[in-house]
Amino acid sequence: MAMGLTLDNFSDKELWLVAGSQHLYGEEALKEVRSNAGKIAEFIDSEEKVPLAVKYQGVLTTSAEIAALMRQANSAENCAGLIVWMHTFSPARMWIKGLKVLHKPFVHLHTQYKREIPWAEIDMDYMNINQSAHGGREFGYICTRLGLNRKVIVGHWQEEEVLKELGVWSRAALAWHDSQDAEIARFGDNMRRVAVTEGDKVEAEIKLGYAVNGFGLGDLVEYVNQVSPEEVDSQLETYQQDYSLAPELLPAGSNHDSLREEARVELGMRRFLEEGSFKGFTTNFETLHGLKQLPGLAVQRLMASGYGFGAEGDWKTAALVRAMKVMAAGLSGGTSFMEQYTYHLEPGSYQVLGAHMLEVCPTLTAETPAVEIHPLDIGGKADPVRAVFTADTGPAVNASLIDLGDHFRLIVNEVETVSPKKQLKKLPVARMIWKPQPDFKTAITAWILAGGAHHTGYSRALQARHLREFARLADVEYLEITADSQLPELEREIERMS
Ligand code: MN
Repeated sequence: MAMGLTLDNFSDKELWLVAGSQHLYGEEALKEVRSNAGKIAEFIDSEEKVPLAVKYQGVLTTSAEIAALMRQANSAENCAGLIVWMHTFSPARMWIKGLKVLHKPFVHLHTQYKREIPWAEIDMDYMNINQSAHGGREFGYICTRLGLNRKVIVGHWQEEEVLKELGVWSRAALAWHDSQDAEIARFGDNMRRVAVTEGDKVEAEIKLGYAVNGFGLGDLVEYVNQVSPEEVDSQLETYQQDYSLAPELLPAGSNHDSLREEARVELGMRRFLEEGSFKGFTTNFETLHGLKQLPGLAVQRLMASGYGFGAEGDWKTAALVRAMKVMAAGLSGGTSFMEQYTYHLEPGSYQVLGAHMLEVCPTLTAETPAVEIHPLDIGGKADPVRAVFTADTGPAVNASLIDLGDHFRLIVNEVETVSPKKQLKKLPVARMIWKPQPDFKTAITAWILAGGAHHTGYSRALQARHLREFARLADVEYLEITADSQLPELEREIERMS
């Protein structure tokens, strides 16, 4: 099921590249720097590894120019961030006013126009034009002194790893940009008594930008009831194309009406979310007044088209899934809401089964999902329709955002998703099996010590490095459990955390 967000969804978003310099070396030198910076911007813009358009904004040489550009960047709706390059010594006092007002993320690209020293020809003119070794430090000093969050990328601008790092940062900047005007709709409150899915929505809006707003189920039911039978018919054609439908769901089948109901719910929810320009939503199986069944396939399909989702009122995970989907736009491998459900504790082969009651995003599989109907066993409603599949294998990440009362923490674990040892014939939900990195006991011990939730954002498209950049942009406490992690260090790191 290849769906999901693509870069076309963000084709109007851009990064601004600016170079810092000064007048000490004369107009000729500045002319050359302008041309060099333009070439760097043009090159990065054309590189597929950096998914956003890069707009060259010139060489800045005065405090007033810099402050003016920063104010312009703040108010430019499509500017997701800045790439800042010091070709030479740009006395950093001239950056103070601008950096103090800048609200957009920036990366300090510590590069030099010329890649190699021309040993036989190098003279002082060359030195003056290729002097970021000097200028980058001056700029770094003032950023550190101002206590600014920023990414520093070091290396020649044409080098593959530099472009990759820029790409990762660009994706994090895009997700951050997306989060600033995001609104998450909650249908019902939290599932009763659950702690980790709770949190301070006001603080989330202050810290992360997105707004979380609650709606009564009646608001949604009104939209669902407005869906016409003709719209349902055409939606069923889509289902026929996209899935392998269980016989009882087919027009002559005993549960065909449940599939029609699911289509009605999907269309109603979609219209509700579109009209309100929401980017994510939550549901709660305890509060379904007016809905006949818990939305299953409906939620799965909405997630596949780019909405963030959290079950049981989990708005933090809904917003995180949305951010992860934006970061992953156009990359192969899907992204979903996930739950750490059941363990396989066979000695030497510990594994986790990831699933949820219904709501796993079909972007996680290349196969055609089966659409089935089964009882939910909780909630006391009609049997819900859901897409059932086994997720594609390979490296992936799980991420959890928790609220510790006085701050948020993002915890990320790299995992290796593998094939189930045997067929799961009776499991009526989408599922996957993964091995946490570096090993089960290290990862789970650290995850639990750090307070990581059972709900996560799961992605086959992203690596920990994407979420690390996102946490840095958001200035959110971050713990990463990867193939290189060791438990004693993780334990010490968690103890040191605030
Ligand atoms: Mn759950």
